[in-house]
Amino acid sequence: MLPHGYYVGGTLVGFPAQGGGRECELNAAQLAEFIADPEAYAANYFGLTRAQFREWLESEGRMQCSALTTLGRRCRNFVSGRMQLDSDAWRRLEGEYCVIHGGRPAEGESDASSNQAAR
Ligand SMILES: [Zn+2]
Repeated sequence: MLPHGYYVGGTLVGFPAQGGGRECELNAAQLAEFIADPEAYAANYFGLTRAQFREWLESEGRMQCSALTTLGRRCRNFVSGRMQLDSDAWRRLEGEYCVIHGGRPAEGESDASSNQAAR
């Protein structure tokens, strides 16, 4: 029994991702690996650890602020930016802060120095 959001159909498998699920055609070895631990397979597919993968899904693709509050808990604000970031963009924001904790303001169209301009 696979967890919710995961499926196997022949050599085609599906797993959760930001912005909808992901579908992949797997060979026999990959398929065995997927069935043994679908979450680990999906996390690895995105280059994330299992914990990162869960956080990425649960945060709707937003990176949580890295600052600790005065109570020693992790700040619940999000680093400014878009939601539903892909795994690479999300991971690049790791260790960043929300605006309140000195993070950069939201990247918008006015931010010409962002890598969108370089593409
Ligand atoms: Zn914060």
